[in-house]
Amino acid sequence: MIIKPKVRGFVCVTAHPTGCAAHIQEQIDYVKSKGPIKNGPKNVLVIGASTGYGLASRITSAFGSGAKTLGVFFERPSEEGRPATPGWYNTIAFTKAAKAAGLYASNINGDAFSDDIKKQTLDVIAREMGPIDLVVYSLASPRRTHPKTGAVHKSTLKPLGAPYTNKTVDTDKGIVSEVTIEPANETETADTVAVMGGEDWEMWMDALIEAKLLAPGATSVAYSYIGPVHTWPIYKDGTIGTAKIDLERAAKAIHQKLDAFGGGRAFISVNKALVTQASSAIPVVPLYISILYKVMKEAGTHEGCIEQMQRLFATQLYNNSALKFDTEGRVRVDDWEMRPEIQEPVSVIWPQVTTENLAQLTDIVGYRAEFLKLFGFGVAGVNYEAEVEPHVAML
Ligand code: NAD
Repeated sequence: MIIKPKVRGFVCVTAHPTGCAAHIQEQIDYVKSKGPIKNGPKNVLVIGASTGYGLASRITSAFGSGAKTLGVFFERPSEEGRPATPGWYNTIAFTKAAKAAGLYASNINGDAFSDDIKKQTLDVIAREMGPIDLVVYSLASPRRTHPKTGAVHKSTLKPLGAPYTNKTVDTDKGIVSEVTIEPANETETADTVAVMGGEDWEMWMDALIEAKLLAPGATSVAYSYIGPVHTWPIYKDGTIGTAKIDLERAAKAIHQKLDAFGGGRAFISVNKALVTQASSAIPVVPLYISILYKVMKEAGTHEGCIEQMQRLFATQLYNNSALKFDTEGRVRVDDWEMRPEIQEPVSVIWPQVTTENLAQLTDIVGYRAEFLKLFGFGVAGVNYEAEVEPHVAML
């Protein structure tokens, strides 16, 4: 069939297998162009491996350091006549490329929050990989069924304490409007912490330690975001920010366990705001990203997920380099985003943006292109008029 993008609000309900594969190849080529990452990871587990930051971490591990990788993710497979979600095609393309390069790559599609998927993962590691030296925790999920209580927790993106009003953009229609978001109640905040906080990361690490499947000196990293004042009420100081504080708590707890176990380390890396399926769902943030892209592209400091992860691995995690922590003990690869020479122009542009001048004052065009690329559309060299088979089996 011929597959075209079908955008519904902040999701695209179709994905293009050839386009996703070409997008993966671009990321592999980027990592290879930067040269090998010395003393890199060898045996890597990525939880949330099929899109965004987790996928970029997996590509960097494999093609920067020759690592074996096991990816855990939750994607809708393809069916006869119906495309899969993009992470399905991304993973197939990654796995093919890794195997062609002689690298081990294995995949588990299922709910990472469940005991069953954890057990399946441990079985694969024990049977096929041996002790893991890097665990990347990069889940972004709207809900979690708690494995012990069976309760279903839903995460919300809301401010705390008081309603929050700011500008937002409908990225599909290009309409700038004001949005007011009512504050979360205590249950919504607790639910968001249950989904996006650190408990599940700790459960993964405890399971790996207990099964003796972590290499001495192992590293684990999870990702967070802080961002500028414009988005603090909905992000840093909102429900999701509360969950990220819990993720930082978990990082410290996991670090203590890993440190005692052969000098390992666990930490949070604060990454840059980027167009991903997760970030496009947050009110206000896509408008900020559109302005940020314009300013950072003009400054020549714009990065995507793959550039961010390659920089994290090459300049902080490995390559005989050392982690540089902020005062709260976090690694920052949002450093270029947060530079005053970037944030000051963002703050000048922010109050001026309207529907009419959106295209001039922001990089909404770049935002849309990047968004479609997540689904395999608009990738250079792909013939989108050609027939393509949507039903592709996982490798
Ligand atoms: P994403 O939506 O691109 O990726 C999420 C991944 O989680 C996918 O692989 C998906 O399959 C997997 N997943 C979701 N639910 C799952 C489940 N129940 N079981 C197994 N896998 C599941 O998200 P992203 O933007 O790359 O976010 C990853 C992390 O990076 C999050 O912690 C996010 O807060 C953080 N982060 C994102 C940004 C940004 O701007 N996008 C910035 C900084 C930090």
